[in-house]
Amino acid sequence: MTPQDVDEFFRRLAKARPDPRTELHFVNPYTLLVAVVLSAQATDAGVNKATAALFPVADTPQKMLALGEAGVRERIKTIGLFNTKAKNVIALSRRLIAEHGGAVPHTREALEALPGVGRKTANVVMNVAFGHATIAVDTHIFRVANRTGLAPGKTPLLVELELERVVSERWKRNAHHWLILHGRYTCIARKPRCEACIVADLCAYPAKTTAEPPSQPKAPARTAPPRRPKPRRAGRRR
Ligand code: SF4
Repeated sequence: MTPQDVDEFFRRLAKARPDPRTELHFVNPYTLLVAVVLSAQATDAGVNKATAALFPVADTPQKMLALGEAGVRERIKTIGLFNTKAKNVIALSRRLIAEHGGAVPHTREALEALPGVGRKTANVVMNVAFGHATIAVDTHIFRVANRTGLAPGKTPLLVELELERVVSERWKRNAHHWLILHGRYTCIARKPRCEACIVADLCAYPAKTTAEPPSQPKAPARTAPPRRPKPRRAGRRR
């Protein structure tokens, strides 16, 4: 994609969604961090369902420790990998209290040092909670960036670095929201909705889908010929 195309790509996504936001529910940086940790290999809707029971009783690291690992596990058991995630949530809460006065740190290094927190989670928290122009590459962004030719790369890190390079400062702060939402609702994994895509003319994907051809009128159903009455068999005379 040329720099002009990249700019036009984001201009259109921005016009369609002027104020994109994460679909995860949270009430402060700490609950955002926990929600993102829980979202690994789970849907945002599934995480929101679980955190609706978790956050009212534990929206700070101190309250999460008071709830305990068993209490966390019980409330998130509908999410995949809930055992490991409950352990990580308790461990990261303990670290936040011990090393950061109970607050969520702003830097990538400090965030990535927390249990269960990788580069993607750190990028989301830095962007959404603290306003940094980071781009968190999840499965949707990885797919969209590669399919469209926007920022091809063999690993999420390579895609992230390429996006950092090609996306102008104007769009960077919201770029990952626009790309996630585009991937989640239009450029979907199994069958992208290219016929409804607002950036189709800029996209280099060679296997774009097209609108379904109008269905042919059905041939009238064949009716069975009327049945002829069976000839009556002569009965035996007595
Ligand atoms: S045209 Fe199709 S493949 Fe390209 S971005 Fe749009 S939905 Fe995705």
